[in-house]
Amino acid sequence: MQKLSVDVVLRKLKKLYPDAKCSLDFTTPLDLLVATILSAQCTDKRVNIVTKSLFKKYRSPKDYASVPVLELEGDIHSCGTFRMKAKAIQTSCRLILDQFHGDVPRTMKEMLMLRGVGRKTAAIVLSTAYGIIEGIPVDTHCIRLSHRMGLTNETVQGKIEADLMKKTPRKDWAMLSHLFVAHGRNICIARSPKCSECVLRAMCPRKGVKGIKRKKGTK
Ligand code: SF4
Repeated sequence: MQKLSVDVVLRKLKKLYPDAKCSLDFTTPLDLLVATILSAQCTDKRVNIVTKSLFKKYRSPKDYASVPVLELEGDIHSCGTFRMKAKAIQTSCRLILDQFHGDVPRTMKEMLMLRGVGRKTAAIVLSTAYGIIEGIPVDTHCIRLSHRMGLTNETVQGKIEADLMKKTPRKDWAMLSHLFVAHGRNICIARSPKCSECVLRAMCPRKGVKGIKRKKGTK
């Protein structure tokens, strides 16, 4: 069996999901930063419901920084872990005001200075809001699919990212993550991947996928 490569994954999944992009709603880089912080352990759908009114109420880092934290917690309550997220948003906005003249930073190094912002969040905001590619956002879909497809043997988020970055053209770093999310939601689902419907089935080693046996000579 031919080994599945990142190049093949990109080619086949780009064809399947020509409109793959970040599914969080936003207008400004600040909106996207807040939405990405809220999306930790929460669905993008829920975040988009919450941010619809949130972004009308809070339009600048000053708005988030100056509101009583209890009020902000109430506004984002349904996204889960709301205390931690409210603190992350407020602290980040204060830093943006103090050190970055009120603008969301444009480098990975500066983004990582913000509270509640790791490489995944930073890479999403930089690529989606600014078109700056500095990493591959490694989320739960990326981890699951890259293992099943045999694209990496690494298990730690940072090492998975480094491994995939080596194998992926830089211009496709953000797209690879969008494609993993789209395919992870539609076909390579966490509990029951639809391998028989998958465009990658002929080459995918299906690592760790239980209960699916490939008959000799079948795709
Ligand atoms: S063949 Fe199965 S395990 Fe491999 S990518 Fe497709 S759905 Fe996922």
